Order: sequence, then C-alpha cells, then structure tokens
Amino acid sequence: MSKPDVIVIGGGIWGLACAYACVKRGQSVAVYEAGHVGQGASGGVVGSMSPNVPEGWNAMKQFQFEALSSAENFWAEVDVLSGLPSGYGRIGRVMPIVSERDRVLCEERARNADVLWQGKYRWDVLETHRLIPAKAALFGVTHDTLSARMFPAFAVASLAQACLQLGVEIIENHPVTALESGIISGDWGQARAQAIILAGGLDGFALLDGHLAHSTGTGVKGQAALLQCDLGAAPQLYADGVYVIPHAHGVVAVGSTTEKTWDHLEVDAKLETVIEKARSLFPALGNAPVLQRWAGVRPKARRRYPMLGPVPGLNGVFSAMGAYTIGFGIAHKVGEVLADFSGGGSYGLPKNFTVKWHME
Ligand SMILES: Cc1cc2nc3c(=O)[nH]c(=O)nc-3n(C[C@H](O)[C@H](O)[C@H](O)COP(=O)(O)OP(=O)(O)OC[C@H]3O[C@@H](n4cnc5c(N)ncnc54)[C@H](O)[C@@H]3O)c2cc1C
Repeated sequence: MSKPDVIVIGGGIWGLACAYACVKRGQSVAVYEAGHVGQGASGGVVGSMSPNVPEGWNAMKQFQFEALSSAENFWAEVDVLSGLPSGYGRIGRVMPIVSERDRVLCEERARNADVLWQGKYRWDVLETHRLIPAKAALFGVTHDTLSARMFPAFAVASLAQACLQLGVEIIENHPVTALESGIISGDWGQARAQAIILAGGLDGFALLDGHLAHSTGTGVKGQAALLQCDLGAAPQLYADGVYVIPHAHGVVAVGSTTEKTWDHLEVDAKLETVIEKARSLFPALGNAPVLQRWAGVRPKARRRYPMLGPVPGLNGVFSAMGAYTIGFGIAHKVGEVLADFSGGGSYGLPKNFTVKWHME
C-alpha cells in the first residue's frame, strides 16, 4: 500500500477496532504495531464487558450502553468474517447485595434499568443464586442480563484476521517513534496518510506528550489468572473487588489486582491473594488448577476517561487512547467514532471523552 488513507498506530483491541471500522467504510488502512498484535493489555485473560450501574445517567453511560448493546452483533459479524471465535457471550452478571442500604439502591436500579436499558435488559434483585453462598447473600443478589464477556486473546486474533480479510495491512515490528500531522516515523523510515489514529495503549501516551499542555496518561498494572474450571452457562460473578468470568472453552478467569504504582511487569504474590479470595467467595471454583498467570498494564488517560477524537494542534491526528478498565466493551464503538473523524466527519462525543477536556 503506497500511501493509505488511514494509519493506525497500535495493534491492540482499540487499534484493530478502528482499522476494522475504517476499512469497512472504504478507506485503505495500515496498522503499525511496535511488536506483535495483542502484545499489550489486550492480550490478557479476563474480558468482562459490564455496564455501569443504571443510575445517575449521563452521556458517558449512554455511550457505554450503546456499545454494550451492539457488541453482540459486532462480534458475530467479525467471527463470521474471520472464521475464528472471539469467545463473545452475553452471559449476564451476578453480585451479592452487601447491606440493607445496598438492597434499597439495587431495587431502585432495577426500576431504572427498565427505562434506561430500554426494556432490552434486566437488572433483577433475587433472594439467592446457586453460585453465591447463602452467608454472602444475606440481603439477596443482583442479576443483570446486559453484561457479557469475550476472551481477549481470541477476540484480538479474530478481529485481526477479519481486518486482513478486508484488506487492512498489519505491519508488525514497526515501532513509531514520532508523530506529526500526516506523518509517522521510526527507525524503519517514515509513512504518510491523510489521517492518523493513535491507539498505542500505555506506550502511545509518549507519542502525544510534548504536543500537548500536560502529560497525557499513565498505566495501572493488573494481574489475573486463568483456572481450569467449567462453570457451563454460568454468569459472571463479582464480589468484594473480585471478578470471576466463565469463558466458553471450559476455563474461568479470576481477576484482578489494581496497582497504581508498580516497578515490574511480572506476576507476584498479589495475584495469589486474589485467587485465594475468589476460591473463598465462590466455592464452585474449588481447587481448580491455575492454567495461566498474567499481568498487564491498563492505559489510563490523564483524567481517567477514554480520550478520543481530534488532537488539538495536530491536524489529521486522532486519539483512541485511555481504554483503562472498559476497553473491550466499547472497542467497536470507539472504532466507529474514530472512523467518523478520520473520514472527515465528526461525532458528538461526551465532553469528558475529548482530548480537549483531558488537557484543561
Ligand atoms: C489484569 C487486567 C484485567 C483487565 N480486565 C478487563 C476487563 O475485564 N474488561 C475490559 O474491558 N478491560 C479490561 N482490562 C483493560 C483492557 O485490557 C484495556 O482497556 C485494553 O486492552 C486496552 O486496549 P488498547 O488497544 O488501548 O491497548 P493495548 O492492548 O495495550 O494495545 C496497544 C498496542 O499499541 C502498540 N504500541 C504502543 N506504542 C506503539 C508505538 N509507538 N508504535 C507502534 N505500536 C505501538 C503496543 O505494542 C500494543 O500492541 C484489563 C486489563 C488488565 C491489565
């Protein structure tokens, strides 16, 4: 491809989703990846796609709701095109209610969900659930039917393959070291395009720093594990900061730590604490063997929310940065938004998602 319409920097879930949306609109696309596709945060094991609680509704919650409700069709389309499974499933989520006050709030959320989730999904308050021990469910449990999951490594592989099928050029082992309007550079040379989408996860922030008034983002380390345990058609479980995500291929993910300060990227004893806590909260895990331990870094933009769209001062450069804890659930909608911008259009983003707001 001599000069593509769009260059995407980064082959994680957001970069691939942007490439996919752009190529579907007829743009020629090249993805420049520093190493290999999925080597960043997107290569993990957890893959929860869960909503914010249905209360205090705002433009950001609406954005996430629209993404979560359209994810099913998106991943079905990608998987058909690629011939690979993303592991997507709308399995719902169960959480114990921890106090009388929480119960009142949950019952209010159930009423809110009928309206805010447009009657398509439910937030039910139940007395028990077979996977939650009775002593943890003294005030009942909530069950939402909007939550879903996919298996991150599978989803990346499926989306990358779908991109290739549609003609996206994926150029691995090409780190980008400098970014200007219409041009990227590395020790491999330079490349030009009408539009450049930066989706570089944690390392991508360095390409923006220096162009903008503040440093643009940082990373929050997380550790998670994969256990050999077939919970069948069980929903996600969440209690006391621990997620258990049953995947389609007879494994469950258990996560995650949240480490704002970290000095190494390996797994350590903090993960064992999470695994033990999960076993005690959810006895169905029993002594299921640990198949994989994984650590990654969530890319967190300066002010926590996704940082999307035009980069002030850099014509034709657009940010798809700051996926933080919700990258998988909204990836395809981020792709659509960035395809709007890179195609010369605009999108009415929630104010708190814009680069401009992050830099104020
Ligand atoms: C333990 C843990 C659990 C998590 N659980 C969930 C969850 O349940 N649900 C959820 O939605 N999210 C979860 N996340 C967060 C999720 O992983 C991220 O939001 C998402 O993967 C970020 O995707 P990304 O494409 O922005 O970044 P990345 O996946 O990091 O991709 C960025 C890519 O850009 C490349 N790159 C960087 N710099 C350059 C450069 N200069 N030139 C070329 N290429 C470059 C990198 O090599 C990388 O491949 C979790 C994260 C962790 C660590």
